[in-house]
Amino acid sequence: MKIGVPAESRPGETRVAATPETVKKLAAQHEVIVQAGAGLHASVIDDAYAAAGARIGSAAEAFGAELVLKVRAPNADERSLMRPGALLVGMLNPFDTDNLAAMADRRLTAFALEAAPRITRAQSMDVLSSQANIAGYKAVMLAANAYQRFMPMLMTAAGTVKAARVLIMGVGVAGLQAIATAKRLGAVIEASDVRPPVKEQVESLGAKFIDVPFMTDEEREIAQGVGGYARPMPADWMRRQAELVHERARLADIIVTTALIPGRKAPVLISEDTVRAMKPGSVIVDMAIEQGGNCPLTELGKTVVKHGVTIIGEPNLPALVAADASSLYARNVLDFLKLIVDKEGKLAIDREDEIVRAVMLCADGEVLRK
Ligand code: NAD
Repeated sequence: MKIGVPAESRPGETRVAATPETVKKLAAQHEVIVQAGAGLHASVIDDAYAAAGARIGSAAEAFGAELVLKVRAPNADERSLMRPGALLVGMLNPFDTDNLAAMADRRLTAFALEAAPRITRAQSMDVLSSQANIAGYKAVMLAANAYQRFMPMLMTAAGTVKAARVLIMGVGVAGLQAIATAKRLGAVIEASDVRPPVKEQVESLGAKFIDVPFMTDEEREIAQGVGGYARPMPADWMRRQAELVHERARLADIIVTTALIPGRKAPVLISEDTVRAMKPGSVIVDMAIEQGGNCPLTELGKTVVKHGVTIIGEPNLPALVAADASSLYARNVLDFLKLIVDKEGKLAIDREDEIVRAVMLCADGEVLRK
């Protein structure tokens, strides 16, 4: 089979869907065509792909393959380079219905890896986790960079410096890595989430959990979420959370927000009033900015100072760690391919497989996910 690895064209997208490590494995059975320069932003030169067994080709050749490996969904021009019936694997955004329809129109068989269920068997292909982990790390790096004080407590001949207080809002994969990273830098950390099992995870990393008590069975039930994901909490619980967060935010030097609810706008957790109450020189990194942000003052793609607080709205944090983000993503892709390509290298799509069924967006001109 011909496998194409195009360069990503979306502004700011530095990752690439295959690395020399994964190309080497694929090239044992397939013809792999990597678009010239596809790995440059991720520190991979064409020669490294060629040494791994790939042929370096044009965009048309990479998109014209039977199986195309991408990070982001192709745009209209790129789709037009693809063959009807071609397979496409990437982070294709299952909630973008226009893109879904366009891919179906082109008769692509498209697999969106971010739609994989959070089950043990899917862990090795879980792109949300591999990328969120990197994003959580980078968010703390950005915060530390913007923060005009030390992170750890220091005792020097010139006096003592206090450790930074870090507040993490939303403790999924990204939040857990943010806690671990801030901890390594010596910060004192508090964290909040709606899902009760998170408390133990937060405490095991040496951070303090901000407990928002449940007042009704309904609140407790909604907080369990579905399939590991959060659901929107009732307004009354959100109000109590906001009050507690307001108090904790006043003491914080750095806040990293990561709270998301799949397919919805991100919940607002840090109000303008709370920002106003924060210490001058504090930093907020709003990781939910691409879903509208957890703070209404965050601006997409910008770092702004509001009420003396620096608010960072950098989207796509994994793309700022392009080399490792690509390595992990490419391994996720390779593991997924084992589900649709058999040991002899032949296509074998089992539509009854739980993971395949969840990620397959369209085939034969039909949208499979409504
Ligand atoms: P996510 O990116 O969807 O959301 C980030 C966090 O925001 C979540 O922890 C969510 O509970 C939280 N959140 C939502 N609304 C909030 C609010 N109002 N206040 C505070 N926090 C709020 O989450 P994720 O990183 O994708 O992880 C979701 C869960 O899936 C985690 O428990 C993770 O451990 C689990 N997971 C399981 C597997 C597996 O079993 N294979 C793989 C990856 C992740």
